[in-house]
Amino acid sequence: MSLITLTHLSKSYREPGSGNVVPVLRDVSLNIQAGESVAIVGPSGCGKSTLLNILGTLDIPDQGEYTLDGHPLSGCSPAQLATLRSEKIGFIFQLHHLMPQCSVLENVLLPTLALKTKPDAATLKKRAEGLLRSVGLQDRLSWKPAQLSGGERQRVAVVRALINEPKLILADEPTGALDEKNAESLTSLLLELQRTTGTTLVMVTHHPAQAARMGRTLYLHEGSLR
Ligand code: ADP
Ligand code: ADP
Repeated sequence: MSLITLTHLSKSYREPGSGNVVPVLRDVSLNIQAGESVAIVGPSGCGKSTLLNILGTLDIPDQGEYTLDGHPLSGCSPAQLATLRSEKIGFIFQLHHLMPQCSVLENVLLPTLALKTKPDAATLKKRAEGLLRSVGLQDRLSWKPAQLSGGERQRVAVVRALINEPKLILADEPTGALDEKNAESLTSLLLELQRTTGTTLVMVTHHPAQAARMGRTLYLHEGSLR
């Protein structure tokens, strides 16, 4: 089943100085099946982050339609998009964006606050602990981000992205700030979680070696898919 369908999607920006309209995505059509792992690669400025932001409903296309898990998004209000986003999408960024004053467990549970209907607190805590155990952080529940290594922080960010059991994980250069060894093990972890949970993983990466490990690679060039 198709989780993501983009049809003839376009996005432009108005250049701040000149006011010229600059196309960023041009007539992008795309199908991603539930359970796939997909890399998005391409030179700097080709539109990768813009595409990922649109997939995450954080940005809206000028033209074309985005259908997520059977929902055409063009008619959705911002509030409806926010609900859909917290139920269906987990985000991982290049920097971990953990809250420094919160413990590992509290950080992982943050996205559950946005859920409209949610399991009870005990169930969520159990889920968080299980996920943290699966990434080897069972002894770090009460630690603060500053006490963790870089690799550990990014693993907490991965668990935070999974806590609402999303259908889609969007990762924007999740290994960009890690050394090679940590980058490789984070990619392994993401792929293992993607396989075991049946989640769909879409990842922007600059590393050809990591793209090669994904099920499929999309090449963006000047806003078009090749
Ligand atoms: P990539 O992630 O591939 O490096 P981006 O999607 O970040 O590319 O950006 C693609 C192009 O769109 C760039 O030329 C960038 O300057 C432009 N762009 C992105 N966001 C905006 C914005 N909010 N306003 C104006 N231009 C933007
Ligand atoms: P890495 O090679 O991944 O960067 P580090 O050398 O930063 O790892 O950390 C190694 C170990 O030391 C990790 O298990 C981490 O949890 C622990 N650690 C790092 N900083 C602190 C700290 N401030 N307090 C307690 N433990 C720490």
